[in-house]
Amino acid sequence: MDQPFIPYGRQHIDEEDIAAVVEVLRSDWLTTGPAVERFEEAVAATVSAPYGVALCNGTAALHATMFALGVCPGDEVIVPPMTFAATANAVLYQGARPVFADVHPDTLLLDAAAVESLITGRTRAIIAVDYAGQPCDYDALRAVADRYGLKLVADACHSLGAAWRGRPCGALADATVFSFHPVKPVTTGEGGMVVTGDAHLAQRLRTFRNHGIGSDHRQRAATGAWHYQMLHLGFNYRLTDIQAALGLAQLSKLPRFTNLRRDIAARYDAAFSDHSQIWPLTCRPEAKHGYHLYVVRVPQRDRVFQRLRQSGIGANVHYVPVHFHPYYRQHLGTGEGLCPSAETAYQEILSLPIFPDLSTADQERVINALYAAVTEENP
Ligand SMILES: *Cc1c(COP(=O)(O)O)cnc(C)c1O
Repeated sequence: MDQPFIPYGRQHIDEEDIAAVVEVLRSDWLTTGPAVERFEEAVAATVSAPYGVALCNGTAALHATMFALGVCPGDEVIVPPMTFAATANAVLYQGARPVFADVHPDTLLLDAAAVESLITGRTRAIIAVDYAGQPCDYDALRAVADRYGLKLVADACHSLGAAWRGRPCGALADATVFSFHPVKPVTTGEGGMVVTGDAHLAQRLRTFRNHGIGSDHRQRAATGAWHYQMLHLGFNYRLTDIQAALGLAQLSKLPRFTNLRRDIAARYDAAFSDHSQIWPLTCRPEAKHGYHLYVVRVPQRDRVFQRLRQSGIGANVHYVPVHFHPYYRQHLGTGEGLCPSAETAYQEILSLPIFPDLSTADQERVINALYAAVTEENP
């Protein structure tokens, strides 16, 4: 077993990316500069959204979105449990309560009927998560949100480059959040963005990321003014120009990255289609899946996970249902039985390696190791 370790996800960085970063290092603006604005405009244009606001990571972008929508103590926001904890944490940062609605068992995407059954007089918003890179059913979620006057937020940290009925993720909700962590569709190291069609919301996001101050350093430099006012309590959640330059270079490669991920997924689908013990999640016909993750369900998942790791294959589990985390159990009283579909899936899910540079030979290694792991005698 001397073969190199294959991680589940990994960035692709080329000479063009490196040159873009170096160029900013030689310029006047390392932060709050023109590269941030160009990156915002480029992401917004890519996803057909009018406004983009860059932040220092996806979690900050979710927090800023909750603030900008006016979510406050006493409010409830409906979220799925099958996500990274940051989705629900953003609601807690604003002193509001995340309410967990179950997912569809075949896709692990938020179930609009489950959402509707949990709406109360306190519900303010829904955060849908495009789990694994597959867009949720935004027609069904939009209908529920409109019926009850709720804001619809997309946590699209997995789904930049994906689309629902031909419309890109970023143009499907009132506000959409992206992450640029190294395993995500494109990277800035750390980074995030909110895109929206709402100019007022975009303005609130901009002040929130800059301490709640109404103007930024470059705007004041341009007008020769020194005076500034803090309008509300914000944070320093800014993205640097160094990161934005990397993001711009990466964004030009997004269509290629998405196609490479979809090719790998197609190869995995073909390899597992007739297998009696390996069940890939369903991709809906209306979805163009971005395949941030490739998730299968297998019996005896923990044993299979161990066997793959012993073969040098970095399988992973996405996610521990958020309502199972000790913090949530202790503070919100959550636990088993709240979201049965997510909880059952959690016993069986396994994320296989998928990233643009995963070679055909390594895909074969993953497929063969998984075949061997699931069919092997139970020790
Ligand atoms: C990665 C991720 C986040 C957080 O993004 P960061 O940039 O790591 O802060 C939030 N939600 C989901 C679903 C994610 O995958």
